[in-house]
Amino acid sequence: MKIEADTNVCIGAGMCALTVPEVFDQSEEDGTVVLLQPVPPAELEEGARRAVTLCPSGALKAV
Ligand code: SF4
Repeated sequence: MKIEADTNVCIGAGMCALTVPEVFDQSEEDGTVVLLQPVPPAELEEGARRAVTLCPSGALKAV
């Protein structure tokens, strides 16, 4: 599983970074998402999928 993030769509709500801080961070400049681990290890996959569904802007995809 791989995570894709569209920073043009991200509104910097931070749900992803709160949900799985090992996988998602936020830019210090504008708060948009920074992918720390685009391919999360197995133990973080469930949380990463949850973050995708929680993202209010639809900026995240699990492919
Ligand atoms: S939850 Fe979505 S909108 Fe919020 S920072 Fe993460 S990717 Fe951006």
